[in-house]
Amino acid sequence: MVTKILPAGNIQSWIDKLVASYGVYAPVEVEGASSFKQIKAGQAPAFDARTDLSPKGIIFKQVEKILSYKKDENGIAIEYAPEEETKTVIFGLRPCDARSFTLTDKPFLDPVMPENKYAERRKHTALVTMACNKACNTCFCTSVGGAPDEKVGDVWMMNLDGRYIVEALTEAGEELLKTAGSLSDATVDDEAAAKRIGETVAASMEKLEVPSAKALDNLFTDEAFWQNLTAKCLSCGACTFVCPTCYCFDVKDDGTVKSGDRYRGWDSCMFFQYNRAAGGHNPREFH
Ligand code: SF4
Ligand code: SF4
Repeated sequence: MVTKILPAGNIQSWIDKLVASYGVYAPVEVEGASSFKQIKAGQAPAFDARTDLSPKGIIFKQVEKILSYKKDENGIAIEYAPEEETKTVIFGLRPCDARSFTLTDKPFLDPVMPENKYAERRKHTALVTMACNKACNTCFCTSVGGAPDEKVGDVWMMNLDGRYIVEALTEAGEELLKTAGSLSDATVDDEAAAKRIGETVAASMEKLEVPSAKALDNLFTDEAFWQNLTAKCLSCGACTFVCPTCYCFDVKDDGTVKSGDRYRGWDSCMFFQYNRAAGGHNPREFH
């Protein structure tokens, strides 16, 4: 697809048009903490922030109701939570965050047993990815097959001194760009400038040594490695909650034997209770 230029000063009017038709989530900073929140017309996203929390929770909700149940003399009645049809845009997420959804898709969009709530939201959510003009010292996308200028999501964009080079990557992205007002064609120089930025940012990042799958496999039975790692762990679960690709969940009922609601919520393998089985047996107690 072709690259275009969104003129300087036009990004907010585009966002405002999107806000009129979609639920738009973008990076927002509040008292030094940043995350993706739904924005209103006129609200400028914090594009410079590398958010503390990924946008995972917009599609894979931290807690959500799956169904309600009621039991009486006629049997059990189940009412499923209604389908969500709100069209959503996640605007200004970084290529690594956009790419992370391809991993949460694996369990939740399984062709045999998809998770309906995730699948509905994924279908109704478009991703507008903002390429990175600089990297943080914690960035490592290039070590795991990504790139600061990776074209991933529905629309890709990069800041070129206030103007934005933009490209629709999917049909949904083309629809979004139709609301962006007048766009000019990107020149060869614009494309070369974007490529240079991507290469410069990539070159500024440290390359991590990623162990082979075999080496990782071997770690599973390396008792000393796990003892050393867990000695420092408080079992708070925060690392799995901020991770964009951790997808464990738990299902709990809130109610009585006669009626109640069933919820699905994030779980964490770092919780001590994670392995506890029915009857109370927990293999972790033996370590
Ligand atoms: S430079 Fe790479 S790791 Fe850092 S925010 Fe951008 S895409 Fe993510
Ligand atoms: S659960 Fe994760 S964040 Fe919490 S202490 Fe353990 S390693 Fe650290």
